[in-house]
Amino acid sequence: MSFFNKSYRHCPPWDIGRAQHEFVRLEKEGKINSPVLDVGCGTGENVLFLAKLGYEVTGIDSAKIALRKARMKAAQRGLSAEFMLYDALKLLALARKFATVIDSGLFHVFSDEERPVFTSNLAAIILPGGIYHMLCFSELEPGSWGPRRVSQDEIRFAFSKGWEIEYLSAAQFETNFDNDCCRAWLSSIRYKEKLPVVEH
Ligand code: SAH
Repeated sequence: MSFFNKSYRHCPPWDIGRAQHEFVRLEKEGKINSPVLDVGCGTGENVLFLAKLGYEVTGIDSAKIALRKARMKAAQRGLSAEFMLYDALKLLALARKFATVIDSGLFHVFSDEERPVFTSNLAAIILPGGIYHMLCFSELEPGSWGPRRVSQDEIRFAFSKGWEIEYLSAAQFETNFDNDCCRAWLSSIRYKEKLPVVEH
């Protein structure tokens, strides 16, 4: 069983039972437009937060257990949202386009080799002029637990061709360890150009 499926048998540290406040803020500021895709949606809190506000929103994840929990929450809350078992490194096959893509803790999972595969697949499903809002762990978060740390330079490098970084700033990733927060980067990256897809 994969690391993530195993994690979702219990309540992993990132599964806080509500939307991450950085995405709540983005929504309040009017930075999110339908249709929305949440890549690596986990148990769906960010998706369900947006669905409740009337956005047309889809979540994809590669962990079956997370999706089962997400669908159960949607039914319990009477919300309409789509959850799909999907590999974020093969988004091209989705053959759909989104105005906004949100990412709460997926990008920092990828290896150096996977990053260009992800960004080119992302480009295939985002509308020209669409926006990708990404929250990832920062190298300023001390210790070695948890996900890979990402620096601002790495974000700039990963999105250097065909994208424009409109916003990149220190942020907080909430966890359920004593309601503690971890140091993160929030980045809003606009898709500008059509790029060739890198095969995985
Ligand atoms: N966004 C959620 C989960 C963050 S943890 C939240 O904020 O709670 C990262 C998530 O990415 C996990 O749910 C994991 O299953 C998913 N994931 C990891 N690799 C993936 C891939 N290649 N494709 C789709 N989802 C992936």
